[in-house]
Amino acid sequence: MHDPSPAPDDGSGTLFGLDALTPGGPVPGPTATGFRDSPAARRLLPVREIHAEPAAAASPRGRQVLARFPGARVVEVDSHWRIPGLHGNEGNVERWVRIKGETLVLGERKTLTTRPNGRSADWIAPGASNGCAMACAYCYVPRRKGYANPVTVFTNIDRILAHIGRHIARQGPKTEPNQCDDQAWVYDVGENGDCSVDALICDNTADLVHAFRQWPTAKASFATKFVNPDLLALDPCGRTRIRFSLMPPDDSRLLDVRTSPVAERIAAAADFLDAGYEVHFNLSPVVVRPGWEGAWAELLRHLDDVLPERVRRQAAAEVIMLTHNRELHEVNLGWHPRAEEVLWRPELQEAKRSENGALNVRYRAGAKAEAVARLRALVAEHAPWLRLRYAF
Ligand code: SF4
Repeated sequence: MHDPSPAPDDGSGTLFGLDALTPGGPVPGPTATGFRDSPAARRLLPVREIHAEPAAAASPRGRQVLARFPGARVVEVDSHWRIPGLHGNEGNVERWVRIKGETLVLGERKTLTTRPNGRSADWIAPGASNGCAMACAYCYVPRRKGYANPVTVFTNIDRILAHIGRHIARQGPKTEPNQCDDQAWVYDVGENGDCSVDALICDNTADLVHAFRQWPTAKASFATKFVNPDLLALDPCGRTRIRFSLMPPDDSRLLDVRTSPVAERIAAAADFLDAGYEVHFNLSPVVVRPGWEGAWAELLRHLDDVLPERVRRQAAAEVIMLTHNRELHEVNLGWHPRAEEVLWRPELQEAKRSENGALNVRYRAGAKAEAVARLRALVAEHAPWLRLRYAF
């Protein structure tokens, strides 16, 4: 199943060379340290330009980031929002993926709000970043800042941690088990990015993982599509749940641009468990296309074949059917039209206006319920040990 190329098969239909789409060669083994200084990490993030709010640049975390990329040109900006020429679509579509790797933004998170969730986590914590160096074709993260949305590092991590700590203290112990967790309040700390990639840039992810070690009533959680061996050294003491996102490798090669190959994410699960993480899986997004059921069955059989018993015992998964978006569809047609052949299926989908006014599309209710039931049945048949926390 493993194919070393995480990019579209041959790059045709894209406007970028494959060198801009691949994170590099094989990831070093679990004993490796300093992966973020490796050539592979530098290929994923060959940072050339850093847009920085002055206070963010002057902060300890900001100085750490600037020191990591000494060759980068630093551009002062008033705000990490609405940076002319960087955010928004126009003029950027052709350079979208390249911008994601070559540009960083440093800012301070002004709004510190923790929102209730109830599905993936009990709470969505204010993240320590926004944006991503990877470029999954279905990703909703860039919508708020425009599609060429590179990583914004929030440098006031101390305030973010203090906010989360206060929120946890206010909850008291969790007295009623729920599907998020039996005992701990679960805080999603990576809603708008990928914490594994953030850890290539600075210590925000390490600070989050370390902070949750001290909070016995809570647990951090984040989804990832990138295997960063540096996280193995953080000693989370069971207080961080890492959720490796999985989809059939053929879909992933087409849609998960710049990410670690699916087989590599699965192969990393035991290492992360042994390093002190709780390891769950996100079976998402589920993309309904010809042959999807066979492809998922094969993926589930692969999980069943390779995951050791200790991983299975504690594993659980979320299932999330694809939600797409008309604006994203139109942007993707400009750089990755082959992705849209499977993502944009009007005959199966219906439109839904979201709270922020965007026109989202999702599988029609009947088709979606049928697909969810089919996926549940596939899990029961091929990986019966995998508890599904929820599916929608
Ligand atoms: S890894 Fe996650 S945040 Fe990054 S582009 Fe893919 S879906 Fe978006």
